[in-house]
Amino acid sequence: MLHTNLSVNPEGHLTFAGMDTVRLCEKYGTPLLLLDEDRVRQNLRTYLRTMREVFGAGSFPCYASKALSFTGIYKIVAEEGAGVDLVSPGELYTAARARFPLSRAFFHGNNKTDEDIRYALEAGVGYFVVDNAEELAALEKLCQSRDTQQKILLRLTPGIDPHTHAKISTGKVDSKFGVAIETGQAMELVRRTLDCPHIHLAGFHCHVGSQCFDSQPFIDAAAIMLDFMTKVRDRFGLTADILNLGGGYGVRYVDAHPSIDIADNIRLVARRIRETCAALSFPQPRILLEPGRSIVADAGLTLYTCGSVKTIPGYKSYVSVDGGMTDNPRYALYQAPYTVLNASRAAAPADLTATIAGRCCESGDLIQENVTLPTPARGDRIAVLVTGAYNYSMASNYNRIPRPPIVLLHDGQDRLAVRRESFEDLVRNDLCEELAAEPS
Ligand SMILES: *Cc1c(COP(=O)(O)O)cnc(C)c1O
Repeated sequence: MLHTNLSVNPEGHLTFAGMDTVRLCEKYGTPLLLLDEDRVRQNLRTYLRTMREVFGAGSFPCYASKALSFTGIYKIVAEEGAGVDLVSPGELYTAARARFPLSRAFFHGNNKTDEDIRYALEAGVGYFVVDNAEELAALEKLCQSRDTQQKILLRLTPGIDPHTHAKISTGKVDSKFGVAIETGQAMELVRRTLDCPHIHLAGFHCHVGSQCFDSQPFIDAAAIMLDFMTKVRDRFGLTADILNLGGGYGVRYVDAHPSIDIADNIRLVARRIRETCAALSFPQPRILLEPGRSIVADAGLTLYTCGSVKTIPGYKSYVSVDGGMTDNPRYALYQAPYTVLNASRAAAPADLTATIAGRCCESGDLIQENVTLPTPARGDRIAVLVTGAYNYSMASNYNRIPRPPIVLLHDGQDRLAVRRESFEDLVRNDLCEELAAEPS
């Protein structure tokens, strides 16, 4: 099996985190997102332990919560002692509702409005990751009016192409995120920052991409960032304390993907950072990482119910399921690969090659093509593996389809963490009834 939390029981049902997935479908209905809480914690602990060991006590992972954001996940991350990366006031609100210690929060975004900035200042976010000169000016002004000082990191683009998919590659000079070192704009932004009395420049941030299967992008980025930090020290006398290298370690979605040892990779990055710092005579800063996908992806599993198997002679077969791009838009967006299993007949021979289609009125609503699985019957449960990251957080109500629930699995127990949306939820913002009731 792709990951160690998957197996098949004597009934031939797929199990996840030791639990019968078919039983869980009967209990909660489908589509259903299961989240293996123990796996989330293990993944966090790998980062926490290794980073403390190789970078020292001040280093920790900040879970990039855009991968999967709901109240319960912030509680888990807080309990484990990690930080958090927030990209919107909505994520901030959710973290605050979970009483996440916001001193360990990093507030991202390439276009924070004045309102967003005010909200984050009010909430007491530990660090802003400032993206551009306009944001810097707006932040300085708002801090001045509140008579507070705010710690920030500046988001820079080190000019690295990590050879991943273009839509999730962000470290290149041509990017909507951050300011480029190469063009001199980053140094200019540092100069401006140091002119802001209400802003404390604590360090620098970069994020080179996503779904990276080796450490070279991190090593290259660290070398460029440390060289820049040395130049900042030499020019302005500021020795910055934090280097945040972003997220991006890859996960195994299909057999063809390698499985990587995160701890070994972090150790390698640490060794190269030590060498670079020694060569530059620069004291090693606190290193932060922002893993998202590698914390939650393999902790997630989506279950659907098969409605039909349609074979078009001379063409192909379609297996239709009761969810689709509304709960997992990643194949429709960028042909993301997934492993699909027949959870009801997990031990049967895989005898059908088919396209797994969603229920939306949209031909592009596919979960995966060219999947080989045991031929499903109507009512069979279909499992899509490794769906913890960028599924629920990217879900929509297209076709007025309610979002699925999230069920946490821990120690052989299942616990509803997010309710399934109801039809009532779908119309909660619609005012037509009130409008219709008004006299004309
Ligand atoms: C998306 C993102 C991450 C997380 O990336 P993963 O590939 O999910 O680990 C971290 N930091 C920033 C700034 C991001 O935009």
